[in-house]
Amino acid sequence: MDETLHPTEAGESEDKTVPRDNRELDVERIRRDFPMLQRRMNGLPLVYLDSAATSQKPQVMIDRMRALYAEEYAKVEEGHSLSKHATQVFEEVRAKVARLINAAEPREIIFTRGSTEALNLISRAFERSRLGPGDEVLITMAEHASNAIPWQMACEDSGATLRVVPVTASGEIDLARFEQLLGPRTRIVAVSHVSNVTGTVFPVKRMTELAHARGIPVLVDGAQAVPHMPVDVRDIGCDFYAGSGHKMGGPSSVGFLYGVASKLEELPVADGGSTMAQTLSFEKIQPKPLPHKYEAGEPAFGEVVAWGPAIDYWMDLGLERIAAYEKALTEYATGKLLAIPGVRVLGEGTERIAVLSFTVEGVPPTEVEKELDRRGIAARAGELDAEPLLKALGVDMAVRASFMFYNTHEEADALAEAVAEIARLH
Ligand code: PLP
Repeated sequence: MDETLHPTEAGESEDKTVPRDNRELDVERIRRDFPMLQRRMNGLPLVYLDSAATSQKPQVMIDRMRALYAEEYAKVEEGHSLSKHATQVFEEVRAKVARLINAAEPREIIFTRGSTEALNLISRAFERSRLGPGDEVLITMAEHASNAIPWQMACEDSGATLRVVPVTASGEIDLARFEQLLGPRTRIVAVSHVSNVTGTVFPVKRMTELAHARGIPVLVDGAQAVPHMPVDVRDIGCDFYAGSGHKMGGPSSVGFLYGVASKLEELPVADGGSTMAQTLSFEKIQPKPLPHKYEAGEPAFGEVVAWGPAIDYWMDLGLERIAAYEKALTEYATGKLLAIPGVRVLGEGTERIAVLSFTVEGVPPTEVEKELDRRGIAARAGELDAEPLLKALGVDMAVRASFMFYNTHEEADALAEAVAEIARLH
């Protein structure tokens, strides 16, 4: 292949737009790398506070997507030169994701459309092979619908029972109750790493230790963790881990499932189709080795490859630095909001990152969302796909402001000023 026409991931990642060594993030400079942040909404400069739903995209990702479709597009599979190149750039991103979360081997990374698909792959594989009447699945009250409904479905279809660990008044997982609920028939624990409502970081390493001491495997939903903090799946010790690339600068439909190779190998396939089987024989299904066994059909080739430079971008900033910056910004915004009479911040007092949900006394959250929108602030209101957690925290709905390293303290001020005005006017 002509290297100049077909740059590889490695080549692209040398064009660094962000300083490597500065201790402080140069946020103004970073913002210039995200074209959407330059636009206006309702006539005002956009304040984008909805990164927990999906992140904005760096130019390097957009450029990679364009170049891939214009110059390198082909089927990912061994064969002609174009396909060989496509396979190479696709597999480079698999290795990158493995490095990002410290997986032992690239084949432990399965590409999916997002965390939801990753969580469903595991729930279906368990339903097919591990669950039956009398068995139990343990989740928590803090789960997003994507890590609750797949397990409800698996339990409904297999006759297993869903058990739910309660949360404390501040939204922490009740660890004592968790330990009690780990029983002889618990077949899997499925828990989120970071709450999409409160931003609380849950003690998944400790929970994994407790579950493993009883021989129970653990699946962690890392949708809200991977873009915001260093994640080391081997340090956590979990068996499976799900993540969303589109929440980390990637295109709209990309994510991954991580699984310890031996655990993925012993599970049955979840989806059948082309590319996942060695051969089509009506006598017996013969899955390919990892990771292909779990990647049936045409992969999200363009999305995966374009996610690559976004991963580089995040890793070059440094996940430690990102976490420190976002934690400080979340704390700053929390302090500002708490100073407004009638504002309640959910999950206050827990170890939180990047996500801030709140209510304003006497103003429905959807009304707050509308008023913020009018002021150029994109935040989100509603049940946040986590009705049980909201109920446990004593509300039906909330407003959520979620941050990324491209958000500024001035934007947190703008949020607080707008909320103060909304509270005053109602
Ligand atoms: N899990 C959590 C905690 C989430 O916040 C989300 C999305 O907001 C998901 C799962 C679903 O992720 P995806 O959109 O990648 O399917």
